[in-house]
Amino acid sequence: MTKRILVTGGAGFLGSHLCDRLIEAGHEVLCVDNFFTGSKKNIEHLLPRANFELLRHDVTFPLFVEVDEIYNLACPASPIHYQFDPVQTTKTSVHGAINMLGLAKRLNAKILQASTSEVYGDPATHPQTEDYWGNVNPIGVRSCYDEGKRCAETLFFDYWRQHQLRIKVIRIFNTYGPRMHPNDGRVVSNFIVQALKGEDITIFGDGTQTRSFCYVDDLVDGMIKMMSSPDLLTGPVNLGNPNEFTMLDLAQKVIELTKSKSNLVFKSLPRDDPKQRQPDISLAKKELDWKPSVELEEGLTRTISYFKDLI
Ligand code: NAD
Ligand code: UDP
Ligand code: UDP
Repeated sequence: MTKRILVTGGAGFLGSHLCDRLIEAGHEVLCVDNFFTGSKKNIEHLLPRANFELLRHDVTFPLFVEVDEIYNLACPASPIHYQFDPVQTTKTSVHGAINMLGLAKRLNAKILQASTSEVYGDPATHPQTEDYWGNVNPIGVRSCYDEGKRCAETLFFDYWRQHQLRIKVIRIFNTYGPRMHPNDGRVVSNFIVQALKGEDITIFGDGTQTRSFCYVDDLVDGMIKMMSSPDLLTGPVNLGNPNEFTMLDLAQKVIELTKSKSNLVFKSLPRDDPKQRQPDISLAKKELDWKPSVELEEGLTRTISYFKDLI
Protein backbone atom coordinates (compact mmCIF):
# COMPACT_ATOMS: atom_id res chain seq x y z
CA MET A 1 0.00 0.00 0.00
CA THR A 2 1.30 3.45 -0.88
CA LYS A 3 1.96 5.64 2.13
CA ARG A 4 2.90 9.25 2.75
CA ILE A 5 6.16 9.11 4.62
CA LEU A 6 8.13 11.88 6.33
CA VAL A 7 11.91 11.44 6.60
CA THR A 8 13.58 14.06 8.80
CA GLY A 9 17.29 14.42 8.11
CA GLY A 10 16.43 13.02 4.68
CA ALA A 11 19.25 14.86 2.89
CA GLY A 12 21.87 13.27 5.13
CA PHE A 13 23.88 10.10 4.63
CA LEU A 14 21.40 7.52 5.99
CA GLY A 15 18.31 9.61 5.26
CA SER A 16 19.04 9.93 1.55
CA HIS A 17 19.47 6.15 1.16
CA LEU A 18 16.23 5.64 3.06
CA CYS A 19 14.44 8.12 0.74
CA ASP A 20 15.78 6.18 -2.27
CA ARG A 21 14.35 2.93 -0.99
CA LEU A 22 10.97 4.39 -0.06
CA ILE A 23 10.64 6.12 -3.44
CA GLU A 24 11.58 2.86 -5.20
CA ALA A 25 8.82 1.12 -3.26
CA GLY A 26 6.35 3.67 -4.68
CA HIS A 27 5.66 5.67 -1.52
CA GLU A 28 5.21 9.42 -1.34
CA VAL A 29 8.19 10.83 0.49
CA LEU A 30 8.48 14.19 2.21
CA CYS A 31 12.13 14.89 2.98
CA VAL A 32 12.70 17.52 5.69
CA ASP A 33 16.20 18.85 6.35
CA ASN A 34 17.93 22.05 7.46
CA PHE A 35 21.11 21.10 5.52
CA PHE A 36 23.37 21.43 8.56
CA THR A 37 25.32 18.29 7.62
CA GLY A 38 23.14 17.03 4.78
CA SER A 39 23.40 18.10 1.18
CA LYS A 40 21.10 18.66 -1.78
CA LYS A 41 23.53 16.57 -3.83
CA ASN A 42 22.45 13.48 -1.86
CA ILE A 43 18.86 13.78 -3.05
CA GLU A 44 19.03 15.84 -6.24
CA HIS A 45 18.38 12.72 -8.33
CA LEU A 46 15.04 12.37 -6.51
CA LEU A 47 13.87 15.94 -7.13
CA PRO A 48 12.30 15.22 -10.55
CA ARG A 49 10.25 12.35 -9.10
CA ALA A 50 6.58 13.21 -8.68
CA ASN A 51 6.37 11.24 -5.41
CA PHE A 52 9.29 13.12 -3.80
CA GLU A 53 9.09 16.47 -2.02
CA LEU A 54 11.82 18.44 -0.28
CA LEU A 55 11.23 20.93 2.52
CA ARG A 56 13.93 23.03 4.18
CA HIS A 57 12.95 23.08 7.83
CA ASP A 58 14.57 22.81 11.24
CA VAL A 59 12.86 20.16 13.40
CA THR A 60 13.38 22.21 16.56
CA PHE A 61 10.40 24.23 15.24
CA PRO A 62 6.87 22.82 14.96
CA LEU A 63 5.93 21.21 11.67
CA PHE A 64 2.40 20.87 10.36
CA VAL A 65 2.12 18.38 7.48
CA GLU A 66 -0.03 15.30 6.77
CA VAL A 67 1.72 11.91 6.69
CA ASP A 68 1.15 8.25 7.66
CA GLU A 69 4.65 7.42 8.91
CA ILE A 70 7.62 9.36 10.27
CA TYR A 71 11.29 8.34 10.28
CA ASN A 72 13.06 10.78 12.63
CA LEU A 73 16.71 10.93 11.58
CA ALA A 74 17.43 14.66 11.88
CA CYS A 75 20.57 15.10 13.99
CA PRO A 76 24.26 15.50 13.14
CA ALA A 77 25.93 12.14 13.75
CA SER A 78 29.65 12.81 13.52
CA PRO A 79 31.43 13.93 16.71
CA ILE A 80 33.02 16.99 15.05
CA HIS A 81 29.65 18.14 13.77
CA TYR A 82 27.56 17.43 16.86
CA GLN A 83 30.21 19.11 19.04
CA PHE A 84 30.36 22.20 16.79
CA ASP A 85 27.18 23.64 18.36
CA PRO A 86 26.39 21.27 21.24
CA VAL A 87 23.38 23.24 22.48
CA GLN A 88 21.79 23.00 19.04
CA THR A 89 22.53 19.25 19.05
CA THR A 90 20.58 18.70 22.25
CA LYS A 91 17.78 20.93 20.96
CA THR A 92 17.62 18.95 17.73
CA SER A 93 17.35 15.66 19.59
CA VAL A 94 14.98 16.79 22.31
CA HIS A 95 12.84 19.57 20.79
CA GLY A 96 12.99 17.71 17.47
CA ALA A 97 11.62 14.56 19.13
CA ILE A 98 8.88 16.52 20.92
CA ASN A 99 7.75 18.18 17.69
CA MET A 100 7.81 14.96 15.66
CA LEU A 101 5.99 13.09 18.45
CA GLY A 102 3.41 15.88 18.65
CA LEU A 103 2.95 15.60 14.89
CA ALA A 104 2.62 11.79 15.12
CA LYS A 105 0.11 12.17 17.94
CA ARG A 106 -2.10 14.59 16.00
CA LEU A 107 -2.04 12.32 12.94
CA ASN A 108 -1.98 8.97 14.75
CA ALA A 109 1.07 8.24 12.59
CA LYS A 110 3.64 5.55 13.28
CA ILE A 111 6.99 7.05 14.23
CA LEU A 112 10.52 5.61 14.22
CA GLN A 113 13.44 7.12 16.09
CA ALA A 114 17.01 6.75 14.84
CA SER A 115 18.68 6.25 18.19
CA THR A 116 22.26 5.18 18.60
CA SER A 117 24.72 2.81 20.22
CA GLU A 118 26.00 5.98 21.97
CA VAL A 119 23.19 5.49 24.50
CA TYR A 120 25.46 2.71 25.87
CA GLY A 121 28.31 5.23 26.31
CA ASP A 122 31.65 3.60 27.02
CA PRO A 123 30.04 0.20 27.61
CA ALA A 124 30.96 -1.97 30.58
CA THR A 125 29.30 -5.03 29.00
CA HIS A 126 30.31 -6.58 25.73
CA PRO A 127 28.65 -7.09 23.27
CA GLN A 128 25.84 -4.65 24.04
CA THR A 129 22.30 -5.97 24.45
CA GLU A 130 19.22 -3.74 24.52
CA ASP A 131 18.67 -4.28 28.25
CA TYR A 132 22.04 -2.70 29.14
CA TRP A 133 21.43 0.79 30.59
CA GLY A 134 24.75 2.24 29.52
CA ASN A 135 27.73 4.06 30.94
CA VAL A 136 27.35 7.65 29.79
CA ASN A 137 29.09 10.76 31.07
CA PRO A 138 26.28 13.33 31.53
CA ILE A 139 28.57 16.39 31.40
CA GLY A 140 31.24 15.55 28.84
CA VAL A 141 31.84 16.68 25.27
CA ARG A 142 29.84 13.77 23.80
CA SER A 143 26.92 14.30 26.20
CA CYS A 144 24.99 16.70 23.97
CA TYR A 145 24.58 13.82 21.55
CA ASP A 146 24.44 10.84 23.93
CA GLU A 147 22.10 12.40 26.48
CA GLY A 148 20.07 14.12 23.76
CA LYS A 149 19.46 10.74 22.16
CA ARG A 150 18.73 9.13 25.54
CA CYS A 151 16.18 11.84 26.34
CA ALA A 152 14.61 11.34 22.91
CA GLU A 153 14.18 7.64 23.74
CA THR A 154 12.54 8.63 27.05
CA LEU A 155 10.12 10.90 25.19
CA PHE A 156 9.27 8.15 22.71
CA PHE A 157 8.44 5.72 25.51
CA ASP A 158 6.43 8.32 27.44
CA TYR A 159 4.37 9.19 24.35
CA TRP A 160 3.80 5.43 23.96
CA ARG A 161 2.77 4.92 27.62
CA GLN A 162 0.85 8.19 27.98
CA HIS A 163 -0.69 8.64 24.52
CA GLN A 164 -0.55 5.07 23.12
CA LEU A 165 1.50 6.30 20.19
CA ARG A 166 2.83 3.65 17.82
CA ILE A 167 6.59 4.00 18.30
CA LYS A 168 9.68 2.22 16.96
CA VAL A 169 13.14 2.82 18.42
CA ILE A 170 16.26 1.49 16.73
CA ARG A 171 19.77 1.81 18.12
CA ILE A 172 22.08 2.19 15.15
CA PHE A 173 25.72 1.10 15.45
CA ASN A 174 28.47 2.66 13.29
CA THR A 175 27.21 2.65 9.70
CA TYR A 176 29.16 3.69 6.61
CA GLY A 177 28.83 3.88 2.85
CA PRO A 178 28.54 6.19 -0.15
CA ARG A 179 27.29 9.76 0.55
CA MET A 180 29.10 10.12 3.84
CA HIS A 181 30.42 13.67 3.76
CA PRO A 182 34.13 13.68 2.80
CA ASN A 183 34.83 16.07 5.70
CA ASP A 184 32.40 14.32 7.96
CA GLY A 185 35.13 13.40 10.43
CA ARG A 186 33.94 9.85 11.02
CA VAL A 187 36.57 7.20 10.84
CA VAL A 188 35.60 5.32 7.68
CA SER A 189 35.30 8.44 5.50
CA ASN A 190 38.43 9.97 7.06
CA PHE A 191 40.59 6.91 6.40
CA ILE A 192 39.34 6.44 2.83
CA VAL A 193 39.77 10.09 1.87
CA GLN A 194 43.24 10.20 3.47
CA ALA A 195 44.29 6.98 1.74
CA LEU A 196 43.04 8.12 -1.68
CA LYS A 197 44.82 11.47 -1.35
CA GLY A 198 48.02 9.82 -0.09
CA GLU A 199 47.79 11.79 3.15
CA ASP A 200 48.69 10.42 6.58
CA ILE A 201 46.01 8.22 8.12
CA THR A 202 45.09 9.65 11.50
CA ILE A 203 44.73 7.02 14.21
CA PHE A 204 43.32 8.48 17.42
CA GLY A 205 44.91 6.95 20.53
CA ASP A 206 46.79 3.69 19.97
CA GLY A 207 44.16 2.37 17.55
CA THR A 208 43.21 -0.63 19.70
CA GLN A 209 39.70 0.72 20.36
CA THR A 210 37.06 -1.25 18.46
CA ARG A 211 33.94 -0.54 16.43
CA SER A 212 31.62 -2.78 14.40
CA PHE A 213 30.82 -1.36 10.98
CA CYS A 214 27.55 -1.88 9.13
CA TYR A 215 27.09 -1.14 5.43
CA VAL A 216 24.33 1.38 4.73
CA ASP A 217 22.14 -0.91 2.55
CA ASP A 218 21.90 -3.47 5.35
CA LEU A 219 21.00 -0.79 7.85
CA VAL A 220 18.25 0.67 5.65
CA ASP A 221 16.78 -2.84 5.24
CA GLY A 222 16.63 -3.16 9.02
CA MET A 223 15.07 0.27 9.44
CA ILE A 224 12.27 -0.49 6.98
CA LYS A 225 11.67 -3.93 8.52
CA MET A 226 11.39 -2.32 11.93
CA MET A 227 8.85 0.23 10.70
CA SER A 228 6.67 -2.50 9.21
CA SER A 229 6.90 -4.83 12.22
CA PRO A 230 3.83 -5.45 14.45
CA ASP A 231 2.81 -2.53 16.69
CA LEU A 232 3.75 -4.54 19.78
CA LEU A 233 7.41 -4.30 18.83
CA THR A 234 8.43 -0.86 20.09
CA GLY A 235 12.12 -1.69 20.51
CA PRO A 236 14.64 -0.54 21.35
CA VAL A 237 16.26 -2.86 18.82
CA ASN A 238 19.98 -2.85 18.02
CA LEU A 239 20.82 -2.60 14.32
CA GLY A 240 24.42 -3.04 13.24
CA ASN A 241 26.99 -5.50 12.00
CA PRO A 242 28.48 -7.56 14.85
CA ASN A 243 31.87 -8.01 13.12
CA GLU A 244 34.23 -6.04 15.33
CA PHE A 245 37.51 -4.42 14.26
CA THR A 246 40.18 -2.25 15.85
CA MET A 247 40.91 1.11 14.19
CA LEU A 248 44.33 -0.32 13.27
CA ASP A 249 42.60 -3.23 11.45
CA LEU A 250 40.40 -0.74 9.63
CA ALA A 251 43.34 1.43 8.56
CA GLN A 252 45.16 -1.65 7.28
CA LYS A 253 42.14 -2.79 5.26
CA VAL A 254 41.64 0.65 3.73
CA ILE A 255 45.33 0.87 2.75
CA GLU A 256 45.17 -2.59 1.15
CA LEU A 257 41.99 -1.89 -0.80
CA THR A 258 43.12 1.55 -2.04
CA LYS A 259 46.72 0.35 -2.63
CA SER A 260 47.70 3.56 -0.88
CA LYS A 261 51.19 4.59 0.22
CA SER A 262 49.82 6.58 3.16
CA ASN A 263 51.50 6.28 6.55
CA LEU A 264 49.78 5.91 9.87
CA VAL A 265 50.11 8.81 12.33
CA PHE A 266 48.94 8.67 15.91
CA LYS A 267 46.93 11.58 17.37
CA SER A 268 45.54 12.01 20.84
CA LEU A 269 42.37 10.12 21.69
CA PRO A 270 39.29 12.39 21.97
CA ARG A 271 37.74 12.67 25.46
CA ASP A 272 35.23 9.94 26.40
CA ASP A 273 35.96 7.95 23.23
CA PRO A 274 34.37 4.51 23.80
CA LYS A 275 36.93 1.70 24.08
CA GLN A 276 34.84 -0.99 22.42
CA ARG A 277 31.53 -1.41 20.70
CA GLN A 278 29.76 -4.44 19.26
CA PRO A 279 26.02 -4.96 18.86
CA ASP A 280 24.24 -8.07 20.06
CA ILE A 281 21.65 -8.39 17.28
CA SER A 282 19.77 -11.46 18.56
CA LEU A 283 16.60 -9.42 19.01
CA ALA A 284 16.65 -8.04 15.45
CA LYS A 285 17.34 -11.54 14.11
CA LYS A 286 14.42 -13.02 16.02
CA GLU A 287 11.82 -10.26 15.72
CA LEU A 288 12.70 -8.79 12.31
CA ASP A 289 14.34 -11.78 10.66
CA TRP A 290 17.15 -9.32 9.85
CA LYS A 291 20.89 -9.65 9.74
CA PRO A 292 23.50 -7.73 7.77
CA SER A 293 24.89 -9.41 4.66
CA VAL A 294 27.60 -7.05 3.37
CA GLU A 295 31.04 -7.80 4.81
CA LEU A 296 33.49 -5.00 5.58
CA GLU A 297 35.72 -5.62 2.57
CA GLU A 298 32.80 -5.53 0.14
CA GLY A 299 31.27 -2.44 1.78
CA LEU A 300 34.61 -0.62 1.86
CA THR A 301 35.19 -1.41 -1.82
CA ARG A 302 31.85 0.17 -2.75
CA THR A 303 32.53 3.19 -0.51
CA ILE A 304 36.04 3.67 -1.89
CA SER A 305 34.67 3.68 -5.42
CA TYR A 306 32.20 6.44 -4.40
CA PHE A 307 34.95 8.60 -2.89
CA LYS A 308 37.24 8.00 -5.89
CA ASP A 309 34.61 9.55 -8.16
CA LEU A 310 34.02 12.39 -5.73
CA ILE A 311 37.59 13.59 -5.17
P1 NAD B 1 24.10 12.97 8.75
O1 NAD B 1 24.77 14.03 9.51
O2 NAD B 1 24.60 12.64 7.38
O3 NAD B 1 22.55 13.22 8.64
C1 NAD B 1 21.79 13.98 9.55
C2 NAD B 1 20.85 14.88 8.77
O4 NAD B 1 20.03 15.62 9.69
C3 NAD B 1 21.57 15.90 7.90
O5 NAD B 1 21.02 15.93 6.61
C4 NAD B 1 21.35 17.22 8.63
O6 NAD B 1 21.39 18.35 7.79
C5 NAD B 1 19.98 16.97 9.28
N1 NAD B 1 19.71 17.82 10.44
C6 NAD B 1 20.52 18.05 11.51
N2 NAD B 1 19.91 18.86 12.39
C7 NAD B 1 18.67 19.13 11.89
C8 NAD B 1 17.57 19.91 12.33
N3 NAD B 1 17.61 20.58 13.48
N4 NAD B 1 16.48 19.98 11.54
C9 NAD B 1 16.42 19.31 10.34
N5 NAD B 1 17.43 18.57 9.88
C10 NAD B 1 18.54 18.47 10.64
O7 NAD B 1 24.18 11.65 9.66
P2 NAD B 1 23.66 10.16 9.40
O8 NAD B 1 24.80 9.26 9.61
O9 NAD B 1 22.88 10.08 8.18
O10 NAD B 1 22.70 9.95 10.67
C11 NAD B 1 21.28 9.98 10.55
C12 NAD B 1 20.68 9.62 11.90
O11 NAD B 1 21.08 8.31 12.30
C13 NAD B 1 21.08 10.57 13.02
O12 NAD B 1 19.96 10.81 13.85
C14 NAD B 1 22.13 9.80 13.76
O13 NAD B 1 22.18 10.17 15.10
C15 NAD B 1 21.66 8.37 13.58
N6 NAD B 1 22.79 7.43 13.70
C16 NAD B 1 23.69 7.29 12.70
C17 NAD B 1 24.76 6.41 12.86
C18 NAD B 1 25.78 6.18 11.78
O14 NAD B 1 26.73 5.46 12.03
N7 NAD B 1 25.65 6.70 10.59
C19 NAD B 1 24.90 5.70 14.06
C20 NAD B 1 23.97 5.89 15.07
C21 NAD B 1 22.90 6.76 14.87
N1 UDP C 1 3.49 19.75 16.95
C1 UDP C 1 3.92 19.86 15.66
N2 UDP C 1 3.08 19.46 14.65
C2 UDP C 1 1.84 18.95 14.89
C3 UDP C 1 1.42 18.82 16.24
C4 UDP C 1 2.28 19.23 17.25
O1 UDP C 1 5.04 20.30 15.38
O2 UDP C 1 1.15 18.60 13.93
C5 UDP C 1 4.37 20.19 18.03
C6 UDP C 1 3.72 21.21 18.90
O3 UDP C 1 4.18 22.48 18.51
C7 UDP C 1 4.15 20.87 20.30
C8 UDP C 1 4.82 19.51 20.20
O4 UDP C 1 4.63 19.06 18.87
O5 UDP C 1 5.14 21.77 20.74
C9 UDP C 1 4.23 18.49 21.14
O6 UDP C 1 2.88 18.33 20.86
P1 UDP C 1 1.88 17.72 21.92
O7 UDP C 1 0.52 17.75 21.32
O8 UDP C 1 2.37 16.41 22.39
O9 UDP C 1 2.01 18.68 23.16
P2 UDP C 1 1.36 20.09 23.48
O10 UDP C 1 1.01 20.77 22.19
O11 UDP C 1 0.18 19.74 24.30
O12 UDP C 1 2.43 20.77 24.25
N1 UDP D 1 38.98 7.76 14.77
C1 UDP D 1 40.30 7.67 14.36
N2 UDP D 1 40.73 8.51 13.37
C2 UDP D 1 39.90 9.39 12.74
C3 UDP D 1 38.55 9.46 13.14
C4 UDP D 1 38.12 8.63 14.17
O1 UDP D 1 41.08 6.87 14.89
O2 UDP D 1 40.37 10.10 11.84
C5 UDP D 1 38.50 6.84 15.83
C6 UDP D 1 37.72 7.51 16.95
O3 UDP D 1 38.59 7.99 17.95
C7 UDP D 1 36.84 6.37 17.43
C8 UDP D 1 36.59 5.54 16.18
O4 UDP D 1 37.59 5.94 15.24
O5 UDP D 1 37.53 5.58 18.36
C9 UDP D 1 35.21 5.78 15.57
O6 UDP D 1 35.04 7.18 15.42
P1 UDP D 1 33.77 7.84 14.72
O7 UDP D 1 33.88 9.30 14.92
O8 UDP D 1 33.68 7.32 13.32
O9 UDP D 1 32.51 7.22 15.48
P2 UDP D 1 32.13 7.04 17.03
O10 UDP D 1 33.29 7.38 17.90
O11 UDP D 1 30.99 7.96 17.23
O12 UDP D 1 31.79 5.61 17.12
